[in-house]
Formats: sequence, structure tokens, C-alpha cells
Amino acid sequence: MRDYFIEICYLAASVLFILGLRGLSHPESARRGMQLAEFGMLMAIIGTLMKREIIGFEWIIAGLFLGSTIGLAIGLWVPMTAMPQRTAFSHACGALAASLVGVAEYSLHGAHLTGFKMGAISFEVLLGSLTTTGSLIAFAKLEGMIRGAPITYKGQNVFNLSLLAVTIGCFVALLLNPGLAPLFYLMLALAFAFGILLVLPIGAADMPVVIALLNSYAGLAAAATGFAIGNNVLIIAGTLDGGSGFILSILMCKAMNRSITNVLFGAFGSVIEGGPATAAGEMREVNGEDVAVQMAYARQVVIVPGYGMATAQAQHALRELANALEERGVSVKFAIHPVAGRMPGHMNVLLAEANVPYSQLYELEQINPEFPLTDVALVVGANDVVNPDARDNPGSPIAGMPILEVDRAKSVVVLKRGQGRGFSGLENPLFFKANCGMLYGDAKETLTQLVQAARKA
Ligand code: NAP
Repeated sequence: MRDYFIEICYLAASVLFILGLRGLSHPESARRGMQLAEFGMLMAIIGTLMKREIIGFEWIIAGLFLGSTIGLAIGLWVPMTAMPQRTAFSHACGALAASLVGVAEYSLHGAHLTGFKMGAISFEVLLGSLTTTGSLIAFAKLEGMIRGAPITYKGQNVFNLSLLAVTIGCFVALLLNPGLAPLFYLMLALAFAFGILLVLPIGAADMPVVIALLNSYAGLAAAATGFAIGNNVLIIAGTLDGGSGFILSILMCKAMNRSITNVLFGAFGSVIEGGPATAAGEMREVNGEDVAVQMAYARQVVIVPGYGMATAQAQHALRELANALEERGVSVKFAIHPVAGRMPGHMNVLLAEANVPYSQLYELEQINPEFPLTDVALVVGANDVVNPDARDNPGSPIAGMPILEVDRAKSVVVLKRGQGRGFSGLENPLFFKANCGMLYGDAKETLTQLVQAARKA
């Protein structure tokens, strides 16, 4: 009866995980998807707590209390802008847990393991350990605790690949003879070291792709744990996590027009000095009151948010501006680039937090044909995602990256603090075009002034 109940809990958890993941595929259903997945996790925990193998609950209760307290604190106090590093930290914890289960299984059964179980445990420990340290380095880079720029040295890729080859050598030797305990612990240590070395040469701005990939590794480590300890829900949840994380990394690379090998081994940092930009002429500075009047009397305004909106936390002021314009009968649309900001869905999350209705958000393919009919394109802290060089200059390092074609609007206004470049470090010819005006200042302050001026206009 008890076993039957456990299997029902696991089945329900698996179905809820799949439905939750499906819900996450659309911003409108994402919240519900999260709730379904949370409920699924509760079912998985209940099922596991019913296991006969549990001989005492003291440590489990202590862990539950500690984990819930930390989780609650993180949920309440970590700001939305710190979400990438928060995610990296969570992956490190999950992967460490998988790795420790593998070490515990090996120390319990060691030489008596079958080849299959040894393979599953080695896979789990290898991926779990490299994901733990890799995610911690990603966290430290994004948090500014270590230098965000790529940390490189001569022969780095060769050294890293040699280290990986030795680690895989240990893996194969253990498959042939599970009793070789020193090799198991050597593999563990090498995997921890490999995680650090893998992520150090990657620039901070590429971390979201790396985090999605590490997420996938953590999922695969969990799936291997499932095989090692004979737990079906771990196999299903781990595989879902592994697959979705991998697809997400590929999609992000595609939207940035980069290959995954370039992200991992290209040491392409956050700054590329002086790409062959086609920028020429002078930037034209405009004043806030004129911009407010221009927008207040426009038929259509398209707002393009970017990383600068996130750093300025300007989403609420932006929503107020959209309200003020709509009250005057202006049609306001938000154009969302898939890699605007620094993590997938960054803009969607922030705009949802400011209660911008989902119906007002337009994807790249939907909005691009509308720019020629748009009176004002308001670029709020975005740079690379509106860089026309990606479309017009085949020699540009970002050539081929799909962009929001704001330069085709009748008028463009760019809100930024100064001459700062975007993630790619490239100059943006948009800022030098005749139809483009620059409104300098922190986006939140500028938008607050624009709201007041638009209401008076
Ligand atoms: P961006 O190209 O990084 O440009 C952001 C701009 O915001 C900067 O030019 C900066 O200029 C301005 N800014 C910064 N703080 C500001 C503030 N407080 N107020 C006003 N402006 C501010 O941003 P993006 O156009 O969103 O492009 C995202 C980039 O990140 C792309 O290159 C993408 O490939 C990359 N990326 C994205 C992801 C993802 O998942 N979303 C992942 C990895 C990489 P000033 O310094 O002059 O103010």
C-alpha cells in the first residue's frame, strides 16, 4: 500500500512537472506553470518521505527547515535584476546535492557496484561537481566578486581539454573496475577543478547562456542520480531539466547569432574594442520637454526596453509614461527583443512586475513591420538590440543578429546616461542618424520627468 502511494505521488509529480514546463512557454501561463511545478515538487517530497529506507526524521526536518528558510529569504530579498546570479547559486546547490548523493552511494557500495550503476554514479558525480564550481564562478562573476571579463592564458583550451580527458579516463577505468576508489576521488576533484576552469574564460555577459547550460548539466546529474538510486521521478524531472536547459542555451545563442562553442571556448568577453562600425557624424542631444510633447501628439509610440531599463529599475516609470500617453489617445506598444537585458525573458519579467499588460508586448517579427508607421520609437537603455550594423554591415561582429528596426521609425529617441556601449562593446550607428535624438540621464529619472511633462503637454 505504501509503495503504491509513493508511485502515485511520483506519477502525479512527473505529470505536474510536464504541465508546469508547458505553462512556462508563455508569459500569460507562466505563473500557473510555476504553481503546478511547485505542487509537483511537494508531491515528490511527500512520496520520498514515505520511503521505508528512512530510519529517522531529525536530519530531514533540520534540512527542510534550513532550506526553506534560505529559499524564503532569497525569494523575498533578492531583487529581480540579480535573478541570473540567484539562479546560478541555486544550480550550484542542486548540483552539489546530486554530487554528494553519488559520493554517498559509492562509499556505501563501492567495489560491489554493477557496471551500469557505476556509470550512473560517475556521470552524476562528474556533472554534479563541475556544475557546482562552474555555477559558483558564474555567480561570483555576475555579482562582481571576481573580474567579469574573460580570464584567459596561453594554451588554456588545450589545458582544459587535457584535464577533461584525464577525468574521462578515470570514468572509463571505474566502469571497468568499480573498486578503484582513489580514481573515484581523483575524478571528483578533477571535475570540481574543471568547472572552475571552464567558466573562468567566459565573459560575465555570456553568463546567462552558461547558466542555462549548467542548468542542463544539473538536470542530467539529477537524472543520473535517479538511475543510481532507482528513483523514477528524479529520472523524469532531471531529463526535463536537462533537455529544457539545453534548448534554452541554443535559443539564446541563436538570438545573439553566436555558436555554443564560441560562447564556451571563444573567450568572447563583455567588451570588444572598436569593431568596424559604420557610425559617422554627430549625435544630436534633445531635451525632455520637446520629447514629451512629440510623444503626447503622436499617433503611435513604440517603446524598446533594454538592459539600461533593468539597471535603472525604470519599469514602473515606463508604465506610468505609457499610461499618460494612452490617456491622451496615443497607441503605445512595447517591442521585446529575445535577448534584451541579460537573461531570457528579462524584459517580460520586469514589465510584468510593473503590470504592463501582456497584450501590449510585441515580439520582433510582429513589431518590425510597424516601425515605418511609428511616430516615435523610444529606446530605453537598449543598445545592441537596436544596432542597425547587425543588419547593414556584414563586417560587424554582430552581423546577422536580428534587431528591432527602430531606425525605420519617423523619429527615434534614445534614453541612456552617456556614451556607454552595450554588451558587445560596439559603437551604434543608430545614434548618429538624422532621425535619432539622444536624451541623456538615468532612465528612471528621465522617464519620471517625461511623465510629468507629457501630462502637462
Ligand atoms: P546593451 O546593448 O547591453 O545596452 C545597454 C545600454 O543601457 C548601454 O548602452 C548603457 O549606456 C545603457 N544604460 C545602462 N544603465 C543605464 C541607466 N541606468 N539608464 C539609462 N541607460 C542605461 O543592452 P540591450 O540592447 O538590452 O542588449 C542586450 C545585450 O546583452 C545583447 O548584446 C545580447 O546579446 C546580450 N546578452 C543577452 C542575454 C539575454 O539572455 N538577454 C544573454 C547574454 C547576453 P550608458 O552607459 O551610456 O547609459
